[in-house]
Amino acid sequence: MNFKKSFFLNIGLACLSASIIFFLSQTDFLKRIELASCDLLFYLRGNIPSSSNIVIVEITDNDISKVGRWPWKRTWHAAIVQVLNNLGAKSIYLDIIFSEPASEEDIVLGEAIKLSKNVYLPFVFQNNTYNIKTSLYPIKRLSSVIKDTGSINIFPDSDGTFRRIPLIFPAEDKIYPHIALKIASDYTGFNIKEIKSNRIILSNEKEQFEIPLVKKNTALINWVGKWKATFKHYGFLDVLAAYDDILQNKKTTLDITSFKNAICLVAVTAVGVYDIRSVPLQPEYPGIGIIATAIDNILSKNFLTPLPYWVNILALYFLSLLPAVLIFGEKPLRETVFTFLACGAYLIMNLFLFKNGVVLNVSTPLLGLLTSFLVVGTYNFVHISVERQKFFDMSITDGLTGLYNIRFFKQLVETDIKLARIDPNKNFCILMTDVDHFKSFNDTYGHQVGDLVLREISDILKKSVRSSDIVARYGGEEMIILLRGTSLKDGLIISEKVRKNVENHLIKDKYKVTISAGVSIFRQNDNAETIIKRTDQGLYEAKQSGRNRVCVIKET
Ligand code: GH3
Ligand code: MG
Ligand code: MG
Repeated sequence: MNFKKSFFLNIGLACLSASIIFFLSQTDFLKRIELASCDLLFYLRGNIPSSSNIVIVEITDNDISKVGRWPWKRTWHAAIVQVLNNLGAKSIYLDIIFSEPASEEDIVLGEAIKLSKNVYLPFVFQNNTYNIKTSLYPIKRLSSVIKDTGSINIFPDSDGTFRRIPLIFPAEDKIYPHIALKIASDYTGFNIKEIKSNRIILSNEKEQFEIPLVKKNTALINWVGKWKATFKHYGFLDVLAAYDDILQNKKTTLDITSFKNAICLVAVTAVGVYDIRSVPLQPEYPGIGIIATAIDNILSKNFLTPLPYWVNILALYFLSLLPAVLIFGEKPLRETVFTFLACGAYLIMNLFLFKNGVVLNVSTPLLGLLTSFLVVGTYNFVHISVERQKFFDMSITDGLTGLYNIRFFKQLVETDIKLARIDPNKNFCILMTDVDHFKSFNDTYGHQVGDLVLREISDILKKSVRSSDIVARYGGEEMIILLRGTSLKDGLIISEKVRKNVENHLIKDKYKVTISAGVSIFRQNDNAETIIKRTDQGLYEAKQSGRNRVCVIKET
């Protein structure tokens, strides 16, 4: 096969591999692998700086052991709202659903919220419908005094991991924002200007910016780091105690300046009480961390933009085509190294894009590349092996008769000589035949019929001996046979049988030819040349003594 042909075949196989991976990439299994490989990019990228304006006030195990079982009396929440407000917090978010009334406590909490003017409370849409009437909404006494509210619904991917956050919920009456978007846009002074299928545009009087979306009003979360490594964390009671110290003019170890102008998120992180979520960087991550990260992404305008679908398909086909131009099966080691270098280069490029906020598929194009490498590589390897075998067969056979050529025959004889020298049972005979008066046969019937005769004689010779014996064309109309494990007596019998078979055969039901033959047995001091020469002398004698007979040279 020529180069051009095999090149296009390579391209075809590579496209086939890419298409197979493309179809398989729609399956849940490969989708999960793609998601997991994207998670790997967060690990490889490492932590990025988180906003210092976000402070998390945690209700820890320690707090619960001191205050008592959860849920706490709402007066505790009133206290933290008051304290955070007095410490200068710009926004206070209580990550607690106050959908049921609790009598006098609500009055206290309501008063604290009303006074601070900067408290956000969450609500939850229920039953997979964006209906505010059936949602778990803060009670009227609280909702009437809060700064605002937002949904905290969030949905995991098929593997149970949270990677995306729905930023807006189009309900029947109006579009509700996620609490993270609400808090962040209020904090920065931006409003939602426009919602498009692939982005949300936020603007203030001076400028605008876009939040890229993946699907259905949902943005990818750009994880800044692990839970404890990001944001400022303070214990609930520690904050209250620090404030108490200030009131009493005592020194406090807590850095109370952190709260000034900050977004303070108050949430439970005590074991067994908080909502545990699995996220790319951590299998157990508090839900409040997702809200904090989403707020952080908006404050720092640090988003992840997924590249369009067609770019991912292009990457899959491009990588899959690489083996087609790199692999021709001639240098397997070098081609394998090239392929793995290409994988490495793609990963590095992917990481570079990721660092710049651009998300490109990782595992699917790489799987395409590896599949194509295997398919194209295997095909080329098999193809080259078959071609090599063909060349080898051609180099040892005779074109006209299909018998072995004399060069290969001599190699086999040399091997048998070595065996016969050490094992007398491996002794062998050489038989040489020549068609009688073949020149005049050719002259009478033409060379084409002569060729046919040679082919038919070859068949007769092969059928007359065992499959372990070797029949070759010596040259012209002379054939030579290696009769393995044969005594001279048996050699003569076989030779006579061969001669008779030719004599009795009617070629093309028309022509009759006879052969003369010489036969000889291997002697210990023989080499391939000497035994062949002696056989030839036998053949000469057969010719001399009248043809159509077998002769053996007894003396050297
Ligand atoms: P003899 O062997 O009985 O002494 O007579 P001969 O006419 O056969 O003599 P020799 O063996 O010397 O002749 C060889 C002839 O074989 C010459 C040539 O015409 C014919 N020959 C050799 N190779 C081929 C071949 O490949 N095809 C055909 N058709 N004829 C061949
Ligand atoms: Mg001859
Ligand atoms: Mg002859």
